[in-house]
Parts: sequence; C-alpha cells; structure tokens
Amino acid sequence: HAQKVISAGEYQERRSRVLGKSLSLSYQQPIGMRRAAMQYMFDAAGNTFLDAYNNIMLVGHCHPHVTEAAARTSRRLNTNTRYYYDEILDYAEHLLSWFPDHLSQVYFVNSGSAATDLAIRMSRAHTGKNKMLCLDRGYHGNTQSGIEISPYKHHKDQEYPNAVVGPFPKKPANRDWDSWYGDLLENYRNLIQRNQNDLSGLIAEPIMGCGGQLPLPEGLLKALYTEIRNFGGVCISDEVQVGFGRLGQWKWGFEMHQVLPDMVVLGKPMGNGHPIGAVVTTREISESFAQGPEFFSSFGGNPVSCAIGKAVLEVVEAEGLQQQAANVGAYLIHEFEGLAANYSWIKEVRGSGLFLGIECLAGPKQNATELAAYLCNELRNAHILTGLDGPGNTVLKIKPPLVFNRANADQLVEETNNVMRKINQF
Ligand code: PMP
Repeated sequence: HAQKVISAGEYQERRSRVLGKSLSLSYQQPIGMRRAAMQYMFDAAGNTFLDAYNNIMLVGHCHPHVTEAAARTSRRLNTNTRYYYDEILDYAEHLLSWFPDHLSQVYFVNSGSAATDLAIRMSRAHTGKNKMLCLDRGYHGNTQSGIEISPYKHHKDQEYPNAVVGPFPKKPANRDWDSWYGDLLENYRNLIQRNQNDLSGLIAEPIMGCGGQLPLPEGLLKALYTEIRNFGGVCISDEVQVGFGRLGQWKWGFEMHQVLPDMVVLGKPMGNGHPIGAVVTTREISESFAQGPEFFSSFGGNPVSCAIGKAVLEVVEAEGLQQQAANVGAYLIHEFEGLAANYSWIKEVRGSGLFLGIECLAGPKQNATELAAYLCNELRNAHILTGLDGPGNTVLKIKPPLVFNRANADQLVEETNNVMRKINQF
C-alpha cells in the first residue's frame, strides 16, 4: 500500500532534534527502512535489499515461528523470576543442552552489554580480583565496566584502570608466522605474569568481530586459558557475535579453539532482534557469586523473552541452519577467493560459516580505507547490505541471517565482482 516516503533530510532533521549526538548511520546514503522478512529488507520507497550483514537476525527477519512465540506469550503472561513459570525453565534447559555439561547455570539479562557486565561481576566475586585481560581492538559492551575492557571504543592514549590490554593478534605482512606468534605468546605470558595479583581473568571473542572478523591464531586461546588458570583466573568466551551455530562447523566459537571456558557471554542473535542476553557459567562460579549482593533483573528471564529465545533455538534445529551456515559459508569463501585471485587489492578472505571478512589493500587509485568504503557503499547502491570494520575500516563484513542461501551468495559475489571491475577501470 501507498506509504509516505520521508526524505533523508527530514529524517536527519528529526533525529538531530531529539536523539543523542553519538548515533551514527550506515552508508553515504542512509536508508529509511520499513519492513523486513527473512534475509530481505524493504525501504520506504519499496526497494528490496539483500541483508548480508545483520547477524542479530539469526533465523531471518521477522521469522514467523519467533514472532508467533512473542505474540502468543505476551498475550498470556509477562512477569519476572520471582514466580514459577514454565518458559524460563524450558528455555534454560534447551539452551544449556547446547553447551558442554560443566556450563550448567544460566543468568538471563537484556543485552550483550548487561551479560558482559554481569560476567565481570562474577569474575570479581569468584577471584576477589578486579582486572580483566582483554585483547586490543576487542569490544564487549557499553556499560561502564564493559567499555573499560573494550579498547575498540577507546581513544588513543586513554587509560585502562580495570583492564590489562594484550596486543592485537594479527600478523603484520613483514613477519613470518612462527616468529611473530612466538613473540605474541611471550608478550601475553609476560603481561599475565606481571599482573596476576590483579587479574580476575580473560575475556576474548574466538573470532574478533569489531577487530575485523579476525579469527584468533590457532593455539592462542588454549595457551592463554592455561596461563590464566595457573593462578586461579577465569576464562570468558564472548560469543555475542559468533555463537548459536553461525560459524557452521561449530555451535560456539570456543569449540573452534578447542577450549572450555568458565563463562560464556551471549546476546545479539539470541532473541533474533528481541533484546535478550545471558551469562552461562559453572556451578562453582555461580556459588561464589551468590555470596555477594542478590542478583535480580526486572526483565531478564521474563516469559516472553524466554519463549522467543526458545523459538530461535527451535528454528535453528528444525531448519538445519547451522549446516546451511557451513555450506553457504564454504561456498562464499570459495567464490570470494576466486575473486581475490583476480584483484590484487583483496588481501584476505577469512572467517567461518556465515561470519566472514574480506580485507582490502590499497587499490589502483585509492587507499585501503577508501576502497573498502567504496565497495560497501556501491554494494548498498546495488541493494546489498554489508558493513565495515577492522583497523582503518578496511574489512568488509559479511554476517547475514543464516537463511542466506546459495542464490543470495551468488548475487553477493556477482555484485562484488561488478564493483571490483569498476575499481579496476579507475
Ligand atoms: N560483545 C560483543 C562481541 C559485541 O559485538 C557486542 C555488540 N556489538 C556486545 C558484546 C554488546 O552487546 P549489546 O550491544 O547487545 O549490548
């Protein structure tokens, strides 16, 4: 039906009048979104966009099984954890069945940030120490304690009163792997040893999202977990971006690195757009935490959120979406590597399943940052949504809803190729 199309200028004027200043927009030509379904989004003018970017919509935008669960439950009951109700138990049991046995306790909150914050509190309660080891360029949340361990959002030379920041684990082009990795490990070991009287633990993403879709080097997490545990610290895996089967071969990123964390932080895809997050942990840590102030969240674990979370798990299982992520992801990597062979400014295609990054180098006329921005904006103009991140925003990020299929992959690769051909002609 006919809808009023509001101009970008009008939106901008209204936003700047009433919304806080620090909000940014995607693309040189921002989009006024109206509707979405599965891997597609529709703007106010009726254009269809292929969403190759939104990793929150794990099972697809507005998936009917999830929206039905939301509507059905919100019509019947919404309350909090101070009552008995089935939804929280059904969901907790289902969610924990996706984890190894030692991760047997779940705390529900309303965002990835709230989950990180809670994980920090728990680490402090369990160890009696305050600082967290984190990785340079990592991001873990927007609360005060989350931002303190998120170098991604820090300005240069800012201090870290509650964090110990380890080096960004990316090999520079001029180093050979073995010597670089040896130095990296030694650097981390020294940091851990120097700070062990203050460190409560380590938090890391198995593949760094904001760091530019960068998988941690093989062996790094295993080595760090050993060092941290040697002095009683806890190991936290931030699975906010990579969890729930997105990596294809693995349900959780920690499996990729063959480690078993003491705590897992969950968010984004967990509610397919509904604000829900969680900390999953061990009985021992849960017991230490219970010695401190009572934990209560007004919304965390409410029946509506739990029904939604459970519906998301059911769709992933019923539709075989983890396998689809593995298949379509492998196909995309293969196709993009084919492109990389033709265009010298693609440095690397990396990631796993439907969590991929294409790192750009300088092109014929543009530096790497300009080239990646051009690529992302031209794809947007071709009605495909992707994003940018990593040092200098040189990495094109691809992390679509897992219903993204082979035909979608072909469209993405073909349009990417079209933009790259244009770049060649500059
Ligand atoms: N951890 C990671 C790895 C994230 O990417 C994010 C969000 N970008 C968060 C935590 C925080 O999640 P939220 O925005 O839901 O608070």
